[in-house]
Amino acid sequence: MPHYDSGVHKVALVTGGAMGIGAAISERLAADGLMVLVADINHDAAAATAAKINAAGGMAAPLQMDVSNAAAIAQAFTTIEKDYGRCDVLVNNAGIAKMCSFLDVQLDGWMQILTTNLTSVMLCGQHAARLMLRNQWGRIINISSVSGLRAGTGRTAYGTSKAAVIGLTKQMAIELAEHGITVNSVAPGPVDTPLTQAMHSAETRVSFTNGIPMKRYGTPAEIAAAVAFLAAPDASFITGHVVPVDGGFIAAGVLAV
Ligand code: NAD
Repeated sequence: MPHYDSGVHKVALVTGGAMGIGAAISERLAADGLMVLVADINHDAAAATAAKINAAGGMAAPLQMDVSNAAAIAQAFTTIEKDYGRCDVLVNNAGIAKMCSFLDVQLDGWMQILTTNLTSVMLCGQHAARLMLRNQWGRIINISSVSGLRAGTGRTAYGTSKAAVIGLTKQMAIELAEHGITVNSVAPGPVDTPLTQAMHSAETRVSFTNGIPMKRYGTPAEIAAAVAFLAAPDASFITGHVVPVDGGFIAAGVLAV
């Protein structure tokens, strides 16, 4: 278990923390000793995840937040400042995906994905960093995707949003470094969650699995473990990087002799 300062309860905010990868991250950070704010557009699901964490002996609370709405983000951070006075770890995890071929991409669909997956990372990052400045310590982890590192069919908006999250991570990292705030990205390969259960066809599953040397999808807990490492005090000199957690997908080329 990482050694966070004893005596002070560091506060972690996990967007999209109610389900899937975000829920696993919330559970893991709470198990590591952080007070976790489970921020989600789905308040009932966030409350259920927070209750599960509290029942297991951790500390968590739900927080209503729609990351596609700048005013809602500002409101949520006003609540955090009033109720907790700090935000030490921010995990920008909330994201949506809709597959669409390049020639069929419509402006409203493009904007919806860019707003939810990219603009939210900039806005939440700004609000959180302003609170982190007070203690000259902070950890920001942006969840991107292997789709931000390699192209995939139908992923014009999604893949571009995730590539931009990786670029934004580097921009944030170099400007926040002098304040003791690290900014890194975790790029998951395919993981079984409500999102992929709804979105990945049988063909997509075969295509992904064949391209992954470990021949399987990842688990939410495996993504959470990488996030927990980057959030911990031990990761103090790591900033501006992207860490694929992908069973070898990014490393792979030809997989047959
Ligand atoms: P999911 O759909 O299973 O869960 C997403 C969570 O985010 C849900 O709790 C949902 O209510 C919440 N959410 C959605 N829109 C929101 C909004 N506007 N404001 C606040 N909360 C919102 O998704 P997941 O598979 O757990 O993915 C989590 C993140 O990981 C996403 O950024 C996704 O792009 C990324 N990712 C997932 C995979 C995968 O295979 N599952 C792979 C690579 C990257």
